[in-house]
Amino acid sequence: MAEFLEVAFNVPLPGTFTYRNLPAKGAAIGLRVSAPFGRRELVGWVVGESDTSSLPPTQIKAITRTVDAEPLFGAATTGLARWMAGMYLSGLGECLAAMLPSGRREIGAPALASDDLPIVDHALVLSDEQRSALERITSAPSGTWYLSGLTGSGKTEVFLQAAEASLAEGRGAIYLVPEIALTGQVVEAARLRFGERCAVLHSRLSPSNRLSEWRRILRGEADVVIGARSAVFAPVTKLGLIIIDEEHEGSYKASNAPRYHARQVAMKRAAMEGARLVMGSATPSAEAWHLMAEGGVEKLGLTRRLAGGALPKVEVVDLSGEGSPISSRLAEAVRDAHRRGGQSILFLNRRGFSYFFRCKSCGAEIRCRHCSVALTYHKDRNALVCHWCGYRVPPPRSCPECGSLDVGWSGFGTEQVEEEATRLFPDLRIGRLDADTVAKKGELERVLGDFREGRLDLLLGTQMVAKGLNFPLVKTVGVVLADTSLNLPDFRAAERAFSLVVQVAGRAGRFSPDGLVIIQTLRPHSYVIRHAAALDVAGFYEEELAVRRELGFPPYARLIRLVFRAREHERAPAAARAFAQALAPSIPAGAELLGPAECPIALVAGTARWQLIVRAPGIAAIHRAVGELLSTWERPAGLRLEVDVDPVSLM
Ligand code: ADP
Ligand code: ZN
Ligand code: ZN
Repeated sequence: MAEFLEVAFNVPLPGTFTYRNLPAKGAAIGLRVSAPFGRRELVGWVVGESDTSSLPPTQIKAITRTVDAEPLFGAATTGLARWMAGMYLSGLGECLAAMLPSGRREIGAPALASDDLPIVDHALVLSDEQRSALERITSAPSGTWYLSGLTGSGKTEVFLQAAEASLAEGRGAIYLVPEIALTGQVVEAARLRFGERCAVLHSRLSPSNRLSEWRRILRGEADVVIGARSAVFAPVTKLGLIIIDEEHEGSYKASNAPRYHARQVAMKRAAMEGARLVMGSATPSAEAWHLMAEGGVEKLGLTRRLAGGALPKVEVVDLSGEGSPISSRLAEAVRDAHRRGGQSILFLNRRGFSYFFRCKSCGAEIRCRHCSVALTYHKDRNALVCHWCGYRVPPPRSCPECGSLDVGWSGFGTEQVEEEATRLFPDLRIGRLDADTVAKKGELERVLGDFREGRLDLLLGTQMVAKGLNFPLVKTVGVVLADTSLNLPDFRAAERAFSLVVQVAGRAGRFSPDGLVIIQTLRPHSYVIRHAAALDVAGFYEEELAVRRELGFPPYARLIRLVFRAREHERAPAAARAFAQALAPSIPAGAELLGPAECPIALVAGTARWQLIVRAPGIAAIHRAVGELLSTWERPAGLRLEVDVDPVSLM
């Protein structure tokens, strides 16, 4: 047993701390220990050990006790944690805290409520397309592939058979899904196929449940792990495959430090451990599409629906002439579906920003002349403000595009749509699913169950209905206002709007040939709407990537976003400016600082938020400059600093 231990703690400080080991019942690498830290007693992870230390002996305290009897992690996890700490400019302990279970006592995992849709428990006979995709994947022991195909084209079956192939080689698999609660069918299918070998890591596991699933994986009893973002860290001993289903999903990016992206971690981990990485989506992220175009990732196309469904018919309705958020065409389609015994879903975009400034005649909105993102209307100051660079203008009296005087700010609320639906469809049973509904315990399951079993005729929902839910009776899907996310002051606005519309459209006609999708928009001629209506991913990215390249946004540039938060409002801009000033001299040629400016969501729970964005063609140089400043910069009192490398949202 080593005399000294290097221990990492979940504190936002760089480096590890040296402790003296206990003579008996001591600790070793991979174990958690409890130790005095300042005035507190903290639990940390032992990441190193040695028999000598250069510190004076009187300065070295002893650990209090060990927490684990058996190691919780090994060298692979520590290596990945060190890479993450560097990549995401976080502490090593912060990274380990995100990766490892926090429970102290093992208890068995509770059963998940199972879905009642028919699920096939044996491998299906693959279609020709599916078979050649699987053959490509299994043709090499490592590498990266992307299954690109519309919803219902049979990606799940290819993922499952790729996992079977990996197990047959004696190598385990990790299967990532955006959110367990919304992908019950995939989980159930994996369980049926892999039985006891399958471990499910979902967010409702208690820390103790999570610890016991973790131990089962460590012992090799479970070698297929299915779970959300953090399952990418599962300690599968001989890892052969990582699957990322619905790769475009925002939930793969962590919103707390370390702000890692599961795709980036999976790429790193697959490379470190010689495993395969297989991703898939109907609407790949811009990054993934770019990687496929550059040849770094092999694209495998799936083009046909295999369960008897057909691609839905898609209609675009121009909303500018309508007095109601539910156009007469959409209302008619909902009633028609009902008459024929079918159900409808109306999709509302939760991300809608309520204060955008818009021409009510042509739908144009005002953009920043420096950043090409939408300006946000601040009613209190009567100004349009850019949240990237701080540019501001008074609101125009007429539309700069069509000259109409009918301009103003507006928003589309969920309540407004629900009221309207109740008025228009008095004889339909209407359910609603949004963040408020889901916050109530059991409500999500109840509404979904009612809808699936036909006790509801119409479902109003935010983007959560766009995720992997399948309802065989749905005939009509309406997107109430497809432009809402287009108005967001974020360079990813077009990508998100496109992906949401295509994902929602994919809910219709999965099992029947008469699905109808109605997209309501104020800008029917926008390239986003045109390509979404045609379900044409390649066409969309051809235009979108040209815009990104011209404006210098990802994937043609890398960003580091710094958010300064303070309860005393003036401290946030002061700190942001001081940081920008200190950073400016070390910013390399070709890189630039955007801002500081107020975040689009400028206040959260009374805390002011300001952001500074560092942009460069490559990450290395700005990474170094920001990392060095972060390690020496004295944080002003009352200030919280968030560091986000490769942010997916700039709100
Ligand atoms: P995706 O993951 O691409 O959205 P799914 O995997 O959900 O698509 O497949 C859609 C439907 O097609 C499912 O009901 C599935 O059982 C069925 N399916 C998939 N592959 C086959 C196949 N080879 N033969 C018959 N049905 C299939
Ligand atoms: Zn106009
Ligand atoms: Zn700007």
